[in-house]
Amino acid sequence: MKLKIVYVFSLFFIVFSTMGAGLKNSTYKYGLFIQYDQNIVKFILALFLLILLLTNIILLVNIKRRKIAEKAQGESEERLRTLINGMPDFVLFKDEAGKWMEINDSLIKMFKLGRTDYKGKSDAELAEYKPALKELIEKLVVYDEQAWISKSNVNFEEFIMTADGSRRLMDFTTVPLFHADGSRKGIMVLGRDITDRKHTKDALQKNEEVLRATLNATADGIMVVTNDRKVFDFNPLFQRMWRIPQSLICTFDERLLLDYVSTQLEKPEVFREWVEECYNVYKTDSFTVYFKDGRIYEVHSEPLVKKNVVEGRVWSYKDITVRKRIEKELSESEERYRRLVELSPDAIYMSVDGVNIFSNIAGAKLLGVDDPKELIGKPILGYVYYDYYDSSNKKLRSINGDKTVLPLIEEKLIKKDGGIVDIEVASTSFEYKGKTAILSVVRDVSERKRTEELKKKMEENSKLLMEAIEYDKLKTEFFANISYEFRTPLNIILGAQQLFDYVLKDIVDGENKQKIEKYLKIMKQNCYRLLRLVNNLIDITRIDAGFFNIQLKNRDIVNIVEEITLSVAEYIENKGIHLLFDTDVEEKLMACDADKIERIMLNLLSNATKFTEPGDSIEVTIEDKGDRVAISVRDTGIGIPADKQQIIFERFRQVDKSFIRNHEGSGIGLSIVKSLVELHKGDIKLESEWGEGSKFIIELPVLVLPDELEAEIVDNTYQSKIERINVEFSDIYL
Ligand code: ADP
Repeated sequence: MKLKIVYVFSLFFIVFSTMGAGLKNSTYKYGLFIQYDQNIVKFILALFLLILLLTNIILLVNIKRRKIAEKAQGESEERLRTLINGMPDFVLFKDEAGKWMEINDSLIKMFKLGRTDYKGKSDAELAEYKPALKELIEKLVVYDEQAWISKSNVNFEEFIMTADGSRRLMDFTTVPLFHADGSRKGIMVLGRDITDRKHTKDALQKNEEVLRATLNATADGIMVVTNDRKVFDFNPLFQRMWRIPQSLICTFDERLLLDYVSTQLEKPEVFREWVEECYNVYKTDSFTVYFKDGRIYEVHSEPLVKKNVVEGRVWSYKDITVRKRIEKELSESEERYRRLVELSPDAIYMSVDGVNIFSNIAGAKLLGVDDPKELIGKPILGYVYYDYYDSSNKKLRSINGDKTVLPLIEEKLIKKDGGIVDIEVASTSFEYKGKTAILSVVRDVSERKRTEELKKKMEENSKLLMEAIEYDKLKTEFFANISYEFRTPLNIILGAQQLFDYVLKDIVDGENKQKIEKYLKIMKQNCYRLLRLVNNLIDITRIDAGFFNIQLKNRDIVNIVEEITLSVAEYIENKGIHLLFDTDVEEKLMACDADKIERIMLNLLSNATKFTEPGDSIEVTIEDKGDRVAISVRDTGIGIPADKQQIIFERFRQVDKSFIRNHEGSGIGLSIVKSLVELHKGDIKLESEWGEGSKFIIELPVLVLPDELEAEIVDNTYQSKIERINVEFSDIYL
């Protein structure tokens, strides 16, 4: 305002002075103009006024400039304040004495401070004035000191409690400010709330650590490759799995790694082709690689996509050697089980909810069905015989859950053709596609049932047989006993009869004498017949009981046979039959029981006589075969039919019962002959033709005993040879 007045006054003065100087002879009444040359005075005055004016103008310009500058500064300060207040970080200015000068809105808000109530207060005053600030002040003061001493910024993180009670992590920077002369000017503190950032950073770091740990701990080998085929990352397992040396992995060149690993593979070219394809085609794929040393890896490749851009590929490798081996073993074992089930002779059925879902071939066969598939989908109870339907139904319902085992039971099934089959079934349950399935193993026991019945019958029969044998034994014993009992009175009768013969000799001839002789002869003959039967029965009993022994002695067999033949010659020839004896050897010494040989010969000769007619012939021959001797008795009698030739050697067997009337006999003779021959280790054969005659051939081994082994023959027979012949020939009516 002053300047303006000076300015206006000066301007007025200059105009007035200039006007005065310009008018010649002017009559101004002002002193100066009157006293001095008016022009010079006017000029100096004008100059003075001009300088004054210029000075004023300069002064005015400066004032204007300063005003502009002051205004600009005010605006800049305003902007700065706005800026500082707008900052999310808090800002604090303290003067060189540590008194709070300025704070921004963030700090005001954080501690709910008034706009100016902090100004000019020291830390201690403020802490007392605003207890919420106490913690912050105490923490900051330490770093203020550090900043002053170090003359440089101090950065630190601290947790502080804000006015609203939340705990925040702050990143502080304390900036010491100095004057140009190095004296303290003030200190500025910047505080940034990094609670959330820290959380995020921690979370990120944690995530990365988790990822790294996962990568390292994973059971798969992992490699990440960029588009330019550089290895971006891998886990240690990857390196171990492919046995990659450290020097090679350090190249981070995926192609070099591929070259190296390919050498370990069975078909490297196929694998390489697949790898190249993965890089060329955007796809996710898996591949199984087989190593020369037997390892098997499953390789999985997936594109590495970041914000929809493929940046490379992630490869993962899983060692599936064990899994593959187990899979193979499992499939082999499955195959074995399948075959076992298929080929099982037992029928195997599987059912779910009472419906058949599987049958093996034996199962189809059991039910009389051609194809096991025919049984699928059919209710299993449909094949159960109605008598067993309820029990089967109950049994199936009792199966509850997995692994129930039902005991072995017997049932009957109905075949497709309506036939009934006895079965034995064992069932168990198992889990199949989330349901309870029943596995039944069925065995056809019809055969076993039949066998069991047969066995039962056999047991009954064998019991009967044993009873029969026992009965037979009793019978034989009875025969033996009774035979012995018969022999004594028979011998007495025979003795008496001989006495009669003897007495009769002295009686004069007469009609009665002849009659008596005739009846005595009949009596005698029948006694002999009875005696023969009794002897045979006794012998057979002894043979059966194993008590019939032969007494071997070195004897001339030719002589024995010849003598016994000759001794019956009279009997035979009296019947009108020709008897011939022929031998190719004069003498043959061998171990034999002469009595038994005689018995054999007498039996054969008596049979030959019995079954021949007058005019026929009987021929006894001896043939020396070196180590064997063949004795044959041939007749030209009725002969024996072929079908009876074997049975006649069996006890009580005769060719035809009808002959018995003509040819008496018991059917025991030949069986005793056979036994006697066998006791001599020989055998007996028959050659015969029905109607043509018979030939019995005995072959005995020629054995000669050393002297000391020859039996001491005890003749315990009290019958004379004649008597023995009479007995053997007693069947023949002379
Ligand atoms: P048997 O005491 O009945 O003669 P054998 O055992 O000596 O008993 O003979 C058994 C049967 O063999 C005789 O009943 C007879 O049918 C038959 N047989 C034995 N020898 C002859 C033969 N030489 N010719 C025909 N049949 C004979």
